[in-house]
Amino acid sequence: MFLPRFELIQPQSMQEVCNLLQEDRDQAILLAGGTALVVYLRYRLRQPTRVIGLKSLPTLKEISLNGDGTLVIGAMVSLKTIETSPLIKNHWPALAEAAQMVAVPPIRQQATLGGNLCLDTRCIFYNQSETFRSSQKNCFKLGGEVCHAVKKGTRCQSVCQSDLAPVLMALGAELKIASAAGERIVPLSTFFTGKGEKPNILKPDEILVEVIVPPSPPAVSVAYEKLRVREGMDFPMAGVAVSVKKNPEGYIEQVKPILGAVGTSPIEVSFEGKLLGGQTLTDDFLQTLAQEAMSRAHPVGNLAMDATYRRKMVGVLLKRALRRALSMPS
Ligand SMILES: Cc1cc2nc3c(=O)[nH]c(=O)nc-3n(C[C@H](O)[C@H](O)[C@H](O)COP(=O)(O)OP(=O)(O)OC[C@H]3O[C@@H](n4cnc5c(N)ncnc54)[C@H](O)[C@@H]3O)c2cc1C
Ligand code: SF4
Repeated sequence: MFLPRFELIQPQSMQEVCNLLQEDRDQAILLAGGTALVVYLRYRLRQPTRVIGLKSLPTLKEISLNGDGTLVIGAMVSLKTIETSPLIKNHWPALAEAAQMVAVPPIRQQATLGGNLCLDTRCIFYNQSETFRSSQKNCFKLGGEVCHAVKKGTRCQSVCQSDLAPVLMALGAELKIASAAGERIVPLSTFFTGKGEKPNILKPDEILVEVIVPPSPPAVSVAYEKLRVREGMDFPMAGVAVSVKKNPEGYIEQVKPILGAVGTSPIEVSFEGKLLGGQTLTDDFLQTLAQEAMSRAHPVGNLAMDATYRRKMVGVLLKRALRRALSMPS
């Protein structure tokens, strides 16, 4: 499990990063905190000739608040910083909570927001050592023609297990992406492709620079609930972020759940037709929403927990998240 040979470069400016990516678009890879990437290198799931480290770029480590209340978080801000930032805890508590639910404290100290959103999709047949993988045919994600998780599957259904992606989608976040050609801003909801083989829209010469979170609208609260094997440290087996809006009379006007870890990308569920005129939180109403959310989740047997159970838990997590969001001051 030793690391493969590669050249490590530590650029000192964004321009230098963009030039390096442009020069070497197919052979270079970005290194943020390395908590995911180093495992990929050891497993030989990535064999870059060049690794471009981002730790010498102070601008990527900044958190700032614009005059209009928009939060801007640099891609290299650590999950520990997000978890403990008083600004984020006060105004976007679900984001701080989701960061706190990732892995264990030493990993969160090193892990970054950019790395979390650019995390590759995962699968128990893929996230394995080279020796393990050599005992089976290459699957779709490795350029082959077979899926080991879904019999007669025709595409890769590896799972987006980022904890922060569903919460940031519920918060309406946007991403700033840069390359030598310039910058572009995209809604996070369009960042994920839904394709296990190529989970996000980043081009080989692009870098995620910052995450832009709009100010929380009045009367809106967001909560995140997560299912994992070991409470203290694991990737999500399912996750639900819920954004809920109440009207001045206290009726629920809008519920926007984003399902995490039950598909190749986070899944947005729409309840538009069920909320006409506002609703109160009855058991029947909760059950209707839970059923709808479950019907949108189609996990397959490619993580360390039964897919049917993960799907059922989507309904449970939705109820928990909705109740918690409604109990929060907005
Ligand atoms: C034991 C363990 C438990 C974990 N548990 C969880 C968990 O519960 N929830 C969870 O969400 N994650 C979990 N992770 C995964 C990982 O630690 C986090 O997702 C982390 O936030 C990744 O960030 P990083 O900075 O370490 O990324 P890196 O490992 O440095 O990079 C990850 C990927 O993102 C790319 N990348 C990084 N930054 C950028 C950028 N700015 N622009 C473009 N591409 C970029 C890299 O090239 C690489 O492909 C776990 C990992 C381990 C080892
Ligand atoms: S879901 Fe199938 S194709 Fe995708 S990584 Fe797993 S085994 Fe491979």
